[in-house]
Amino acid sequence: MLTKKYLLALDQGTTSSRCIIFGRGGNILSVAQREFTQFYPQTGWVEHDALEIFDTQLAVAHEAIEKLGALPDEIAAIGITNQRETTVVWDKTTGKPICPAIVWQCRRTADYCDSLKAQGLTDMIRKKTGLIIDAYFSATKLRWVLENVPGARTRAESGELLFGTVDCYLIWRLTEGRVHATDVSNAARTMLFNINTLEWDKDLLDLFGIPESMMPAVVPSSGVIGYTKMLGGNIPIAGDAGDQQAALFGQCCFEAGGVKNTYGTGGFMLLNTGDRPVFSENGLLTTVAWKLGNGKVCYALEGSTFVCGAAVQWLRDGLGIIKKASESETVAMKVPDNGGVYIVPAFVGLGAPWWDAYARGAIFGITRGTTKEHIVRATLESMAYQTYDLLYTMEKDAGTTINALKVDGGASSNNLLLSFQADICSLPIIRPSCVETTALGAARLAGLGTGFYSDTDEIASFRGEETRFDPSMDEKKRNELLSMWHKAAKSVLGWTKE
Ligand code: ADP
Repeated sequence: MLTKKYLLALDQGTTSSRCIIFGRGGNILSVAQREFTQFYPQTGWVEHDALEIFDTQLAVAHEAIEKLGALPDEIAAIGITNQRETTVVWDKTTGKPICPAIVWQCRRTADYCDSLKAQGLTDMIRKKTGLIIDAYFSATKLRWVLENVPGARTRAESGELLFGTVDCYLIWRLTEGRVHATDVSNAARTMLFNINTLEWDKDLLDLFGIPESMMPAVVPSSGVIGYTKMLGGNIPIAGDAGDQQAALFGQCCFEAGGVKNTYGTGGFMLLNTGDRPVFSENGLLTTVAWKLGNGKVCYALEGSTFVCGAAVQWLRDGLGIIKKASESETVAMKVPDNGGVYIVPAFVGLGAPWWDAYARGAIFGITRGTTKEHIVRATLESMAYQTYDLLYTMEKDAGTTINALKVDGGASSNNLLLSFQADICSLPIIRPSCVETTALGAARLAGLGTGFYSDTDEIASFRGEETRFDPSMDEKKRNELLSMWHKAAKSVLGWTKE
């Protein structure tokens, strides 16, 4: 018997499929990545080819294994994490999707969602699923497939078709059709799953006209789901979680009050609320974070900023005042403060706590002394202010006090941003040395699911080096800045409304 020493994470993202192999301590040993095709057949529509997703995912897994020279028997388990909500429908016999996968970003069912809201279903759906009615979630996408792909409804009703999110399709393919399952965190993003009972909701399946025979079994996020022979040997698939929930686990936010923020193109904050779902008063989503093999369920509150690192891309590509994203830090450091400049990057409206689709971006406080350095600094600060607003909203909704914020994502490498974040939130900000927290979370769920780790305490003992940013701003200054930011944010509300 060879020693099991590796955990293999399949990180199936919106633009690329990646595989990362981790050692026991969470150290990265091998990485492979491939992009796949994005299809935009009409304005507002986004599609993927699920076969291409599977092929690229399998190819990167082989590549990462070969790079490391790992033997299949040395791999303790596979963990899967994925773009959430994206909807795949396939033929149970051939495994072929019957139409392109409808991606979470696709807005084709937005009008139908408006009609659901007009019927007064918002409250019922929120209480059952924790979600606000939106085209993001899988339910209306799956209904669209059944209504619009010729023969789909009849075939679904006769039990020939299966539905799944991307994790589910990967598991089905990796187990060569033996296992049709998804985990609670992915199920919670479909708008068909009752997060209180942790079962598919019959009323919602009826409402959307979805035959229950299409639906996967819902399993814990950690624990053996099936075995694959496709990478050599017979390797257990023992972890499965949506990308944001996996990142929360990868950041070791195992207990209620643990919170992480991902500074990517957009920003995603998740707060672990423990074993009870907290229903937001302020438009945040309630979701299942994970269920472990010991039956322990954790829920989370989730909020997002539509434009986070994307504001830095705008400085680079739109304004051309920096050449690369990392330059935003050195340029902003050339001025001691924002010089009274505030930027509200409401390029596509504002999310929580404002929820205004009509808001648009603006720059406030420009004087003759304003320089490009101030603009860059104000842009970085806007990322921190928006993160503060989310954090504050979560604290209020959950009735808890947050003690520290863990961070990851591309822009979390910016030290100036994180120091300012610490000042504005008046909290320590903690950045792990491994910012690949999504893949790490999937690997850790898988390791826990096979007994490679004995419990979450053991995982936490491998947290490794962290960089900590402590607050140092005085209260008066902080309040002044926040009040100016809120004045700016309020000024852009309703901008494009007739
Ligand atoms: P995603 O997974 O959403 O594609 P990433 O986590 O890879 O995003 O982060 C990329 C984003 O982070 C980009 O929007 C980029 O502008 C921003 N970014 C990357 N490095 C920095 C930096 N040093 N300072 C500020 N923003 C950065």
